[in-house]
Amino acid sequence: QKYGVNELRKMFLTFFESKGHLAMKSFSLVPHNDKSLLLINSGMAPLKPYFTGQEIPPRTRVTTCQKCIRTGDIENVGKTARHGTFFEMLGNFSFGDYFKKEAIAWTWEFLTEVVGLDPDRLYPSVYVDDDEAWEIWNKQIGIPEERIFRFGKEDNFWEHGSGPCGPCSEVYYDRGEKYGCGKPDCTVGCDCDRYMEIWNNVFTQFDNDGHGNYTELEQKNIDTGMGLERLACIVQDVDSMFDIDTIRALREHVCRLAGKEYEKDYATDVSIRVITDHIRSVTFMISDGIMPSNSGRGYVLRRLLRRACRHGRLLGIKGEFLVELAQTVIDGSKDGYPELEEKKDFIFKVITKEEEQFNKTIDQGLSILEGLESQMEKEGSKVLSGEEAFRLYDTYGFPVDLTREILEEKGFSIDEEGFEKAAKAQKERAKGTFGETNYMGADVTVYESIDPAVTSTFVGYDHLTYDSEI
Ligand code: ATP
Ligand code: MG
Ligand code: MG
Ligand code: MG
Repeated sequence: QKYGVNELRKMFLTFFESKGHLAMKSFSLVPHNDKSLLLINSGMAPLKPYFTGQEIPPRTRVTTCQKCIRTGDIENVGKTARHGTFFEMLGNFSFGDYFKKEAIAWTWEFLTEVVGLDPDRLYPSVYVDDDEAWEIWNKQIGIPEERIFRFGKEDNFWEHGSGPCGPCSEVYYDRGEKYGCGKPDCTVGCDCDRYMEIWNNVFTQFDNDGHGNYTELEQKNIDTGMGLERLACIVQDVDSMFDIDTIRALREHVCRLAGKEYEKDYATDVSIRVITDHIRSVTFMISDGIMPSNSGRGYVLRRLLRRACRHGRLLGIKGEFLVELAQTVIDGSKDGYPELEEKKDFIFKVITKEEEQFNKTIDQGLSILEGLESQMEKEGSKVLSGEEAFRLYDTYGFPVDLTREILEEKGFSIDEEGFEKAAKAQKERAKGTFGETNYMGADVTVYESIDPAVTSTFVGYDHLTYDSEI
């Protein structure tokens, strides 16, 4: 009994509908009225106004499958079995309605009865002081005490500055010894891929005044999040999220384009998985109206797209290849996100434009960087000058993170201060030379020619300027 990704998504939403929840569509990846966040990174994020009481929710019980981007996980992508920059988060939410008892019971019911996971492989964790949650797992669900883990603030307390916060309870699944790191103390909570964290239940029951004073909230909330890809990975009993049905088709497409076999060489596999992940992020971000640019969200998009290009080069792929892959992303996900199919032409145009731009200079840039590396080696230097790093950025379209990353792979770094200085100097020079600066190959105006009507109606179209974030 193996459920596909699209099926699991439906099963989750239907299950919570049967528990009185309103199933809402995924919100855009672009936060709405929320300056604290560049991109939506959890199911809870777009629902914040309902949690704070700023807005009245359409129902006190809501369930979603939310598109998420976490660039903070970029270093893990391709290396762990469980991290993507893009993923879908399944969640059930209570706005002052049910609390811990129901939330935990339904988590358990969904995993063991609906999906049919082996209860003996599941391990809950609770916040160290949360005896209430511990009791529920132990008495109500019947999990023996030695299988319930108590973790500290770092893992099991959800808090974001001031405001609503609270303890969490997570569920881990033991995928077996073969996925373990082999360390003698490897157990639930270990960073390796054996005990995979699948579901986080957050009990927002306190208000933090910002000075560490916690008061009980009158209206207690539930906010949960489970990675759809991780759930599928466990249900389908495969090695990693890159082996689940929808993503696997994409990963195999990457292999075909590169003429590479999977699982022959570690570095090759990492590049294959990086491209597989990044093209998902890129496709979904553009479908939400984000355009490549030199700052903010647009920069994140550009960085992911160009990073994918570079890994394509590492695999020996010649020419443009990302649009073809975007088609496979759309085929795999249009079931849950029909807008992908609707905006297909637009998505393809943006990807083509951006990839063409970068392709013009990437090979030159890479060989210049190689030259700089051997020069540094000869000179016994470990740091690339800020000017050179800026030239790669400005002339060859290398996002500075990409340059930094390529250098770090070989033990080098960038003179960051020097880079900032070079960037400032360029900005000064550019003042008054109307419309002539063209950092990183293409500036946003290039995209206005694609379809101004479409781009201007997107909420996500951002006009942030160059200096806010590079
Ligand atoms: P991890 O410790 O494995 O990095 P997390 O504690 O950062 O996960 P949460 O913030 O608790 O994750 O998010 C809730 C759920 O979302 C996780 O339990 C997991 O199933 C899923 N999830 C989180 N980050 C990712 C990611 N980068 N890729 C895929 N799924 C993720
Ligand atoms: Mg994490
Ligand atoms: Mg965690
Ligand atoms: Mg977690």
